[in-house]
Amino acid sequence: MREIMEWYSSSMYLPPLSPGCELCAKGEKLVLLVTGKCNAKCFYCPLSFKKRGKDKIFADEWELEDENDVEKILIEARLIEAKGAGITGGDPLLVIERTCRYISLLKNEFGKNFHIHLYTPNVKDFVDVENLASSGLDEIRFHPVPQLWGDMEKSRLSKKIEHFKNLGVDVAIEIPVLPDRKDDIISLIIWADKNNVDWVNLNELEYSESNYENLDKIGYTLRNESAATVASSEETSVEIIKKCSEMDLDVGIHYCSSSFKDGVQLRNRIKRRAKNVARPYDVITEDGTLLRGAVYGEINLKKLRDFIVKTFDVPPELVEIDDEKKRVNMAAWVLQEIASELREMGFECYMVEEYPTADRLEVERIDLPVK
Ligand code: SF4
Repeated sequence: MREIMEWYSSSMYLPPLSPGCELCAKGEKLVLLVTGKCNAKCFYCPLSFKKRGKDKIFADEWELEDENDVEKILIEARLIEAKGAGITGGDPLLVIERTCRYISLLKNEFGKNFHIHLYTPNVKDFVDVENLASSGLDEIRFHPVPQLWGDMEKSRLSKKIEHFKNLGVDVAIEIPVLPDRKDDIISLIIWADKNNVDWVNLNELEYSESNYENLDKIGYTLRNESAATVASSEETSVEIIKKCSEMDLDVGIHYCSSSFKDGVQLRNRIKRRAKNVARPYDVITEDGTLLRGAVYGEINLKKLRDFIVKTFDVPPELVEIDDEKKRVNMAAWVLQEIASELREMGFECYMVEEYPTADRLEVERIDLPVK
């Protein structure tokens, strides 16, 4: 009987854990989406409409202009102080030259200990295996389509797994837990164990803007109003882990909850980025978001900034033009003091809360002054 280890946010595992998962938990992995294209067409594919089927590239939330815009990948990795990268898609192997080029780039820039794992539904041939291994890939995570889970011999993955392992690449299987496929998932885990797979990662099945219709059609339901996850996916995962703990298996098995992904991995990653992108006028919240004042007006932004600095005697480093959002940013605590006067002059004043990510997603705005 193997001991079940509790992890963050109801995640759990039967050791060992992939080093990729350990880095991910600390927010130390860059998420590099190398294409949105994929031929697997999984009915539960959570990829957003913005990315799905499109040959787009994102370093975390930062979209590259084209595949040669590699400087953004390196800048993003530095901003989050990444110790590794997870290469994802779509299917990264549909653009294998690009994928290998990025793996080599990251290894050359950040050293051989920079841990890189890659997700794919399958690998075409031994040439691809060799190219990935020689470019420096540390771990491949296969995502076999659900039709194969109950009979993985049909996947013809065994020989490719062996080849990866002979070339020093670790191998994992990663799938979402469909609550009605418990027995097939256990068969998959037994097959993985027999085929020297190092780890099986079980993800809580999540709703997204692009998959909810398909999940509804199958009869899946929301776990509860506050969580965009499928009812019983977590319970099924726990049952699978318990069952596997009683079996004579060596493979590591990790259940990764949706709240672990959002509340721990993403939160840690944005906190790392926040401390490197925060301006002198920003306040970093406990969640890693940025609080700042924002002034809008029908006036040239440079004039508005200079006017605020001079009229209210504000230290210049606390007021800045924001060309992207067409406004002036400044310290929220200063804006709170002068917002009434600015409003009387016809300017709009807010305190905004934004992600410190490249897309600068705004999560909240409050009218200033707060009374
Ligand atoms: S393999 Fe991944 S990216 Fe491709 S369709 Fe399935 S879930 Fe979507």
